[in-house]
Amino acid sequence: MRPVRSPQSLNETKESMRPLRLLAVILLASSGLVGQTETKPAKAPTSFDKSAFDATVNPCEDFYQYSCGGWRKANPIPSDKSRWGRFNELDEYNQSVLHDILEKVAASGKHTAIEQKVGDFYAGCMDEKKANDLGTKPIQSQLDDIAKIGSTKQLIQEVAKLQDQSVPVLFRFTIGVDQHNATKHLADVDQGGITLPDRDYYLKQDAKSVETREKYLAHVQKMLQLMGENADQASKDAKTVMDIETQLAKASMDRVMRRDPKNSDHIVGVSELLQMAPNFDFPEFFPATGVEKFDRVNISNPDFFKQVNPLITSVPLDDWKTYLRWRVVKSAAPWLSQPYFDENFDFSGRYMTGAKEPEVRWKRCTQLTNRSLGEALGQLYVAQTFGPEGKDRTLKMVKAIEHQMDKDIHAIDWMGEDTKKQALIKLQAVMNKIGYPDKWKDYSSVKVTRDDLLGNLRRAAKFEIDRNHNKLNKPVDRSEWNMTPPTVNAYYSPDQNNINFPAGILQPPFFSKEVDDAVNLGGIGVVIGHELSHGFDDQGRKFDAEGNLRDWWTAEDGKKFEERAQCISDEYSGFTTVKDEKGEVKLNGNLTLGENTADNGGLHLAYMALEELMGDKMNLPIDGYSPAQRFFIGYAQIWCQNQTDQIARQLAITDPHSPGKYRVNGVVQNAPEFQKAFSCKAGDPMVSAKPCRVW
Ligand SMILES: [Zn+2]
Repeated sequence: MRPVRSPQSLNETKESMRPLRLLAVILLASSGLVGQTETKPAKAPTSFDKSAFDATVNPCEDFYQYSCGGWRKANPIPSDKSRWGRFNELDEYNQSVLHDILEKVAASGKHTAIEQKVGDFYAGCMDEKKANDLGTKPIQSQLDDIAKIGSTKQLIQEVAKLQDQSVPVLFRFTIGVDQHNATKHLADVDQGGITLPDRDYYLKQDAKSVETREKYLAHVQKMLQLMGENADQASKDAKTVMDIETQLAKASMDRVMRRDPKNSDHIVGVSELLQMAPNFDFPEFFPATGVEKFDRVNISNPDFFKQVNPLITSVPLDDWKTYLRWRVVKSAAPWLSQPYFDENFDFSGRYMTGAKEPEVRWKRCTQLTNRSLGEALGQLYVAQTFGPEGKDRTLKMVKAIEHQMDKDIHAIDWMGEDTKKQALIKLQAVMNKIGYPDKWKDYSSVKVTRDDLLGNLRRAAKFEIDRNHNKLNKPVDRSEWNMTPPTVNAYYSPDQNNINFPAGILQPPFFSKEVDDAVNLGGIGVVIGHELSHGFDDQGRKFDAEGNLRDWWTAEDGKKFEERAQCISDEYSGFTTVKDEKGEVKLNGNLTLGENTADNGGLHLAYMALEELMGDKMNLPIDGYSPAQRFFIGYAQIWCQNQTDQIARQLAITDPHSPGKYRVNGVVQNAPEFQKAFSCKAGDPMVSAKPCRVW
């Protein structure tokens, strides 16, 4: 589903650490989980919530509104949020559980080493007075180092150093998985270095994009003024930052292109990279990162390095220094003193997402601890919330859905026997990971003190960066997790061919011991089917059972797949996500193709599981609703949400997932099983004239 994203720098840092090839396909975008202030204890959401319905709406007219209208009315967006849905409700509840744990271990008393570490981290984060007293002191040594840069060579050294301190500047360097030998690692260089959420923000000429750039310039200027520059200088420097980032954006590949793994598959000898981009001074850069010497590297986007190469020497050194200073302060701003925090929120929160006020500090600190020491805090979380029986129950459902996919592949009429055979081999090889890692990361080397928030944050980030760099000559460990246990999300990893369900999502409204199987299959059953389908969506199908980028399809079947996928792309491109005085924004069917394919496939597989499970009981209603109806309502109610126009605009550009409304209506329009369950007729809005079906 997602790693959640917010304007906070650590998210951005984590994002920047992950090359395309490591990108897992998640259930939900992270940007959905921005902010909140509410102080009363959150309670766990419920499955099959009758108060969520809007009985005035005909399910065949608008099934999303029918299932969620009551909920949407009763749940306006909290003032510190840009989006509020069932995922957020559960996430909020999980955060309250983590908060209780953190408050306990941060208080004095007898604690284990792990408790002490997360407790100190959290306590250091909660010390707002200290942050205010320090002002920019926590970033002063970085600013001093930048000021000392006197040559291109020193510029590159400083870029390496800042990246190592988790400040994402200029480009990305990581150790990824070798797409052609997925048991091994490979060094990877990739585009990067921009501040706004996507290259489009720098390049598009529509009125809203022009406005965003004006606001961004003003934001950079204000931040630099806070650092002591006069208004003229800060205004000039803001333009410098914009110029440099615009050049980086121009050289970057767009998100739709990046969805095709072949577009980022350029393994070369290091000497070729040095020839292509000599000004990046990689012979200086690589050793500075501390990584072992290597002779092969993947260049995810060669054009980026070709186009940026001349800029390294043609852009004046002082301009580069301005850009680096900006990136340092922007990354740290959420954790600096009040004026920096406020200015950062004003642009990245209020303007960009539509949240009215920031989240309270304990929530931000709970999230930061979870992101920074996730498998330490996760151990405490799991011990309290998720026993072995949770793992067993989930595994049973996963097996049931996998069994349906096996049947589905055997049954589909558009795929030939040769491709089917390969698809079944891939399905057999899928590894299921449930709840939490079998072995936890050992954070004992991470120094944490109660009086050094930024230092703690940097050392925790450095721990992850070093872990990544140290993987170079080690085999890929498929038992590692990309999400922490309390996360309300799930993912499929194409280069590892595994599906991953953190403990955090295995609760109501996704899964509940209190409700019937139909509702649970509509919830967690579809989530499982969704992740499994990712192995066979337009991206996942390009990887084989071992996670290698290899075409295992016959040419004819590949073509048939693409025709079917095109149907889904066209369908979702027709959906409007925002319409206001600033114009109408439609979904990008190509950007969201993989997720929409997974939603459609996941629903189909879970429904097959329901039919097999219920047998002749499919006609026995509970509470007036047939099992099929309960299944579809269970599904729809997972996606109930409200969102600001601002975040809807942002997500239309950045999020490969469709908003809740279309995750529901886009899918049921294609599903004859739905139309039968609610007696919809041809011509009804929930009955597509041209239904799409891949899986
Ligand atoms: Zn997904």
